Amino acid sequence: MIIVVRKQAGSEERARLIEILGRMLGTLRPLTVTHMREREVVTVDNSNLDAQALATLRQQPAVEDIVTVQTPYKLVSRAFQPASTVIEVGDSAQCQPVTIGGGVPVVMAGPCAVENREQLLTTARAVKDAGAQVLRGGAFKPRTSPYQFQGLGLEGLELLAQAREITGLPIITEVMEPALVTTVAEYADILQIGARNMQNYPLLLAAGRQSRGKPVMLKRGLSSTIEEWLLAAEYIVAAGNPNVILCERGVRSFDPLTRNVLDLTCVPLLHQLTHLPVIVDPSHATGRRELVPTMSRAGIAAGANGLILEVHPDPDAALCDGKQSITPEQLWTVVQETQLMARLMNGEFLPEYVA
Ligand code: PEP
Ligand code: MN
Repeated sequence: MIIVVRKQAGSEERARLIEILGRMLGTLRPLTVTHMREREVVTVDNSNLDAQALATLRQQPAVEDIVTVQTPYKLVSRAFQPASTVIEVGDSAQCQPVTIGGGVPVVMAGPCAVENREQLLTTARAVKDAGAQVLRGGAFKPRTSPYQFQGLGLEGLELLAQAREITGLPIITEVMEPALVTTVAEYADILQIGARNMQNYPLLLAAGRQSRGKPVMLKRGLSSTIEEWLLAAEYIVAAGNPNVILCERGVRSFDPLTRNVLDLTCVPLLHQLTHLPVIVDPSHATGRRELVPTMSRAGIAAGANGLILEVHPDPDAALCDGKQSITPEQLWTVVQETQLMARLMNGEFLPEYVA
């Protein structure tokens, strides 16, 4: 249940509402007060509240509306917000701003990891020339083995900021720990929370509270259900950041021929269940460079609001995820095809029927 607080409600009226709710729910169940864009809302799990309790709540002067949402995730659900969330990325003083979720698919691309200045700048220029709109690059890398390249850390963030200055592309980069959210948010235009951290609740809360208004792209956990994923997104939104982007990056399966299984069914399903934008990552989903262009088209055809792709000037020499990194030439084709697919889906090439 989501209680929308009346804008003009005074502090005593608000305090009274919270007090009544506290009494009704007991102390064991948390109350979350969230500022969601221009609205202030209180979200509670109301499974034990009866009709009389609801009527009492409705009569409170601080209450503007009560929205009952049946799913366990509330604020991110379409039932609460029917209109799709449109996210503005990038400060125009620093880069060319980009809109995610506004109907035109966005391509984000770049290396898995920032390796050095030359590699990043060469890739960033190629990303720009290909027509992609956001530069990706990992500075803090979650690696399966502790002996693999772990990323350049802060130096990687500095290099990303330089690449943004040179190309005008907004940047997305991963944050792995709550203590680094503020620092990463100083540099990044979008914070990425990786698959391995999808259920790192302290990190989700920090991304909700301390991301300086920067959007967060939340990747699906390695074997997470859609509901677990939406509840993870709910943590970020409930903690105060409504700008969350979901990213399908494939889920674990039994077949070693691909790295993961790209669950494209989740794309139209998510559009039903949530108002948040959905991005597809065919690089981590397939693990194979030659499959990335086809699955990029498939992602857009499924209705994704954009793609995130790994690209490297010399993929076989990449320090991280080279097998799934496409070349700048392949990226150029994927961007062209994405734009064509978007026009196709807009109905531009439909024959005109004469009645
Ligand atoms: C990445 O984007 O480089 C990454 C580590 O992705 P994931 O968290 O999806 O594995
Ligand atoms: Mn990677």
